Amino acid sequence: MPTQTLNFISVAQEMPEKRAAEIRSSDYDEIYLNFAEKRAAEQASRCSQCGVPFCQLHCPLNNNIPDWLLMTAEGRLEEAYELASATNNMPEICGRICPQDRLCEGNCVIEKGFEAVTIGSVERYITDTAWDQGWIKPPTPEREREESIGIIGAGPAGLAAAEELRRRGYQIDVYDRYDRMGGLLVYGIPNFKLEKEIVTRRADILAEGGVKYHRNFEVGRDASLDDLRAKHSAVLIATGVYKAHDLAVPGAGLNNIVQAMTFLTASNRVCLGDTVPDYESGALNAEGKNVVVIGGGDTAMDCVRTAVRQGAKTVKCLYRRDRKNMPGSMREVTHAEEEGVEFVWLAGPEAYLGDENVRAVRAVQIRLGAPDASGRQVPEIVPESSYEIEADLVVQALGFSPEDLPGMFDEPELGLTRWGTVHVDYRNMMTNLDGVFAAGDIVRGASLVVWAIRDARDAADSIHKFLQETAAENVETVDATAAPEQAA
Ligand code: FAD
Ligand code: SF4
Ligand code: SF4
Repeated sequence: MPTQTLNFISVAQEMPEKRAAEIRSSDYDEIYLNFAEKRAAEQASRCSQCGVPFCQLHCPLNNNIPDWLLMTAEGRLEEAYELASATNNMPEICGRICPQDRLCEGNCVIEKGFEAVTIGSVERYITDTAWDQGWIKPPTPEREREESIGIIGAGPAGLAAAEELRRRGYQIDVYDRYDRMGGLLVYGIPNFKLEKEIVTRRADILAEGGVKYHRNFEVGRDASLDDLRAKHSAVLIATGVYKAHDLAVPGAGLNNIVQAMTFLTASNRVCLGDTVPDYESGALNAEGKNVVVIGGGDTAMDCVRTAVRQGAKTVKCLYRRDRKNMPGSMREVTHAEEEGVEFVWLAGPEAYLGDENVRAVRAVQIRLGAPDASGRQVPEIVPESSYEIEADLVVQALGFSPEDLPGMFDEPELGLTRWGTVHVDYRNMMTNLDGVFAAGDIVRGASLVVWAIRDARDAADSIHKFLQETAAENVETVDATAAPEQAA
């Protein structure tokens, strides 16, 4: 076992074993296996222990990457876990699904010439080992506090905040409109990227530590925001963004044109053993169909790869820019290509064709014109370039916006940004309503799990500070009112 670092010259980069495309395409299991102990240590030992670690600077959680790599290289895994979990509530989840090529690994200095240290896979290895060894404990506080906090949404933001605040002794109630805890970790992201037991064990250990879950509880239907404010000392809004962007093209109302989240939620429910009538009937099942997915982000990648696993006849991904300008992670594109997905670059839908059911997408060719103010080249339609692509099922993965929260929560005073996300003061993550905080996608717009955790940790710190200050003010008020009596 290597006991030193700086081995990047003698040890080549190796990812954990990836299951062959023809095998993994017919099941929903994760595609990467975990590192073996020796391999994890070897790969960790490639780190050059930079004085200014760019990997850490580009990790939204500022994880202390070089130190836990060194500890892993030296076989000090329990210490490595302590350090990794000090800044991250879900290291095994980030290790699996962060787009590392755009974050930590994409900024590893040895990437130029030697290929990056496989940071994400080592992070996953450390934390999976911690679970296996029983080092991960429920967040049971040393002392209980009376104040309670209501958290709306049990996605990564809600769960990370719940853990941080429970550790400090607060009474935590998490409300979610779904039946399972985890938000998009359960119902959005497919099993082949993140197996659901990994999420369930996280949610369960919080419950063991005293976090209370209210399942199938929709704020807006089962209680108003005002009700929660009256019940709790502080409230955190962590509802994510779910309003799917639509395409206003001719034929948009035809049957078998579905939204990405409808398609993915059905598939995830089937994997979890639920009965989904629209899947059974074939409406949300790609088996034997020519599938066209529209979009170029990670959600589109999840849809094409899910369609492959459902036994689609063909799967095409239509994207209006080229490979280089795609928002999705390049790793995901490579996985999809290996699994048989065909990418149709520089193409956009002009109309959906069919009588009742969609039978084809009429696409146009696109070229990339001059850059706009953001620096991205603007897609332009090539005149008279229409052509048809056969389709029995179209999945639209065009992004998400927030729902109308003030309307939904019956709280017209809740301040929003011009994008409809909840407006917070970034210094403390508090909304314009006293004691109401927000975190995750509902603040940033559709983003990443690692950013949701980061926001949640910041919000938890601020909620704690807010409650401490409120308690101190109350003591002062009591003292002031008590003073004349004492004098008498
Ligand atoms: P969510 O995870 O959306 O959780 C919000 C929760 O709030 C949900 O459980 C919801 O039911 C609940 N809720 C909403 N409204 C109410 C209400 N009124 N009352 C009660 N509960 C409510 N990120 C990555 O980092 N890597 C990936 O590979 C990746 N893949 C993705 C794939 C897909 C298909 C999608 C859609 C997203 C993906 N993301 C990925 C993004 C990531 O999932 C999100 O950024 C992250 O989940 C946001 O966390 P959140 O807690 O803010 O919201
Ligand atoms: Fe990299 Fe994500 Fe882990 Fe940070 S949390 S070190 S970005 S994998
Ligand atoms: Fe190690 Fe790469 Fe981070 Fe440098 S940038 S500390 S080599 S992981």
